Amino acid sequence: MLKYRLMNNSLNNNQKGESIMEHINKKRLIETFKELASIPSPSGQEEKIAQVLTEKLEKLDLVVQKDAYGNLVAKLDGEGESIMLCAHMDTVAVGGDVINVVDEDKGEIKSDGTTILGADNKDSIAAIIEMLAVIKGNNLTHRPVEIVLTREEEIISKGAKNLDFSLVSGKECIISDQAESYGTITLSAPYNYKFNIIISGKRCHSKEPEKGVDVIKILARAIEVENMPLGRIDDNTTSNIAYQYSGLSGEVNGEGVTVADIISKGRNSIPDLGVVHGEVRSLEKSSLESILKAIENAFANAADYFGGKINFTVEKLADGYVYNKSDPFVLMIVSIFKEQGIEVKFFHSIGGSDANLLMEYGIRAIVISSAHRNNHQKSEYLIVDDLVKLADFYIKLVQFSP
Ligand SMILES: [Zn+2]
Repeated sequence: MLKYRLMNNSLNNNQKGESIMEHINKKRLIETFKELASIPSPSGQEEKIAQVLTEKLEKLDLVVQKDAYGNLVAKLDGEGESIMLCAHMDTVAVGGDVINVVDEDKGEIKSDGTTILGADNKDSIAAIIEMLAVIKGNNLTHRPVEIVLTREEEIISKGAKNLDFSLVSGKECIISDQAESYGTITLSAPYNYKFNIIISGKRCHSKEPEKGVDVIKILARAIEVENMPLGRIDDNTTSNIAYQYSGLSGEVNGEGVTVADIISKGRNSIPDLGVVHGEVRSLEKSSLESILKAIENAFANAADYFGGKINFTVEKLADGYVYNKSDPFVLMIVSIFKEQGIEVKFFHSIGGSDANLLMEYGIRAIVISSAHRNNHQKSEYLIVDDLVKLADFYIKLVQFSP
C-alpha cells in the first residue's frame, strides 16, 4: 500500500481536472535547458554554471549555499519532511571551447556535432528549475525541497565525496541521471572495491633460473592453477585485473611504468617484482568479500609454491545498495510514473553514481531515468518530451509526503 499521500492544495487535486502538464511552460523550460547547456562545465570548471544557477535559484526564493568544495545546496521551505533532489553540474570533457546548441524544433535538442551537449545532467537541473517556477507561480503546497548540485560527478563522484553534509537534512533523494528510457528506476548499484597485489620473488641471472623465484610464474599459477576468480563470477559479481606488470625491483615499481620503460631494460634477469591492479564488483557485500579473500588466497598459495611472497591490499571505491520493489519510496516513484501514463522499468546498475555516496550518509537516494541519450558522446541528444515529463515528475514528487 502506498504510504505516501498527496498534500492538500496540490495541482493533482485540482477540481477542474486540469492536467499538470499544462502548467509547465515548455518554452521557458527549453530556454532554461539551452542556456545551461551552452555554458561549458567540464569537471573541475563549474564556476560559471554555479554562478548562473545560484542567480536562477535565488530569483525563485531559494536560499543557496556553496560548500567549501564548490557544491551548491539550495533550500526552499515547505511542509513536512524534506525531499532532496541531486544533479551534477559538471560534464565529461566537452570537446571544444563553445557548445552550440541546436534546436530544430523536432522534439530533440543536440549540439552541432563538434562537442557533447551536456544534457547529462543539465536536463535534470532545467527540469528542477521549471518545477520550482511552477510551484511558486501556482502557490502550491509542497515538501521542503533541498537541491544539491554537485561538482565533478563524472570523475567518480568527487564532488559528492567532498559535499558538506552538515548543510543537508533530507533523508530521501531523487537523482535523475540515467540514459535509459523514461520511466526507468535503478534498484541497485554494486559494491565496488579495488585491490593491489605486490608479488615479491627472487632475482637471479637468467642463465641460472633455478636459483630465482619468477614472479610471472606466480601470477600464472594464481590464475590457472589456484583458480583466482576472474571475469564473470555470477549474475551479480565480476572480478577484473586491469593492469599487471612484472620486472626487476628497482626498475619497475608500483607507481606505473610505461611499456617503453620496460622494453628498454635488459633481459638477462629473472623478474622479482610483480604488480597487479584489479577490482571486484558485486551487489552483495558478502560475495565481494569472499571473492577478494579467494583472490588473496590464490596469490598467496601460488607465491608459497615457488617460495615468493605477496602483499595484498584492498580499498573501497563505493558501497553498493539494493532496493526492494515494494519499498514505499520505490512505490511512490512508481505511482508518479503510472500517473504520467508511463510503463515503469526496473534497472540494475553496474556502475556507481552520487547515489552511492549519499547512501553512505544515510540518505536514501534513488536514480531514475533522465531526458538525455548517448551521453558522453558528441551524438548526445535531449528528448524534449521526456524533459517535460521530468519537470512534471518533480512537480508531483514534491507534493507527495510520507
Ligand atoms: Zn550524469
